[in-house]
Amino acid sequence: MHILMYHRLGGLPGPMSIPLITFTAQMRLLAEGPYRALTVADLHQAVRAGHLPGRNAVLITFDDGYLDTITDALPVLDACGLPAAMAVCGGYLSPDTLPRRTPHSSQHFADAAQVLRWRDSGRDVAAHSYTHPALPPLSDAALAWQTAVDHEVLTGVLGEPPALFAYPYGAHDERVREVVARLYPMALATDERHAPNAGRPHVLPRVQVSPHWDLEAFRAALATEADPRTAQHAATQAGHRRIEGP
Ligand SMILES: [Zn+2]
Repeated sequence: MHILMYHRLGGLPGPMSIPLITFTAQMRLLAEGPYRALTVADLHQAVRAGHLPGRNAVLITFDDGYLDTITDALPVLDACGLPAAMAVCGGYLSPDTLPRRTPHSSQHFADAAQVLRWRDSGRDVAAHSYTHPALPPLSDAALAWQTAVDHEVLTGVLGEPPALFAYPYGAHDERVREVVARLYPMALATDERHAPNAGRPHVLPRVQVSPHWDLEAFRAALATEADPRTAQHAATQAGHRRIEGP
């Protein structure tokens, strides 16, 4: 199984933004198969059964709740018939609670109504803390606030609690994992670090899709075993081969 991590679409500067045309080609590839795109319920069922889905299974995720996940990604996902999950911060869902200074370059976040539009399209919503701090340095009280208040807000918006949490910045330690595990049956990490824990339900590793990958590099990332370090490496190698030629 590979869990793909996206942030923004539209080809903005920086490593977090994928051009829409690239994203569209990637989604078409996933829709054509041999891949099987998972819902969060599919993943949860597999976790409960004690074995993660096989190599061709893919979970598509978007972090932070950017508006372009709704305006740009959702029409492509609809056209391709693909499920996906969007990890949102409870504090970003209303202008009244959006922090004045977010750690992000833009304040263009989806509000509660837009997140419901995403959910009502059949896609999943995951939690991503209330205001997106790195969780390990927080006091116990602040950690509880960031996770429990967020859980309450999202449950209120969605009418049911999310089944999935994504650690802000992929940062977690034993204390954070314990607190999150009391609220969510599964949690997403990011790539590279924490690989020894890969596969445990509260340390599910993800592959960050790079704006520099062409379709061959994307395919290479999906062709490897589900170690995200290997996947990133395979994608980079595929990119180099293409640039260097035979
Ligand atoms: Zn984030």
